[in-house]
Amino acid sequence: MDSPTEEEKPCTTEDKTQRTKRISEVLCTPESQVKKTKRISKRSPVLKNTIDTWAAQCKECCKWRVIPTQEEYEEIRRKFTEDPFTCNKKHNVSCDDPSDLEYGGERIWVIDKPNIPKTPIGFQRGLVLRKDYSKMDCYYVTPNGKKLRASTEVAAFLGEHPEYKDVSEADFSFSTPRIMADTLPQNVAGKKGSSGQVD
Ligand SMILES: [Zn+2]
Repeated sequence: MDSPTEEEKPCTTEDKTQRTKRISEVLCTPESQVKKTKRISKRSPVLKNTIDTWAAQCKECCKWRVIPTQEEYEEIRRKFTEDPFTCNKKHNVSCDDPSDLEYGGERIWVIDKPNIPKTPIGFQRGLVLRKDYSKMDCYYVTPNGKKLRASTEVAAFLGEHPEYKDVSEADFSFSTPRIMADTLPQNVAGKKGSSGQVD
């Protein structure tokens, strides 16, 4: 294992240019991984370090397709193993069309785990990248605006709110995506020992 950031990058494109700080969240089909890319929005500094682009990788052609909404993304991710993503799941798109984005580029990429439950209706799931790029933190926001940061908080919330009887703890997952070190900005990538040479 001397390749620095090698995991199973089954059909990774080797397009790596400068990366600034947008993050994309993506699903990668072949090894049933979900990759997420986020981009940091320049317009809303408050929301930076959170995901602003979701993408999934086609099982057939390995191209990346942008998934327009988090909800659609979560739906793909929810059943990713049993129902891998392919280009034709996007309306009017086929494997012959050019990819929507390339791995690397100007974004930080994070790979999601497959089969995470879809966020219950009315709740929101958020991910924030720590300033030191070491990891992401996951949280949920309840319909009444309360932030839940751990499954114990989910349990307490559901216990206090019997009106959400259709929602169960199993609908929440705090698992966070893996940050792809080779897509981090150069200065932090070195620090994390991952961009290029590591011995
Ligand atoms: Zn395809």
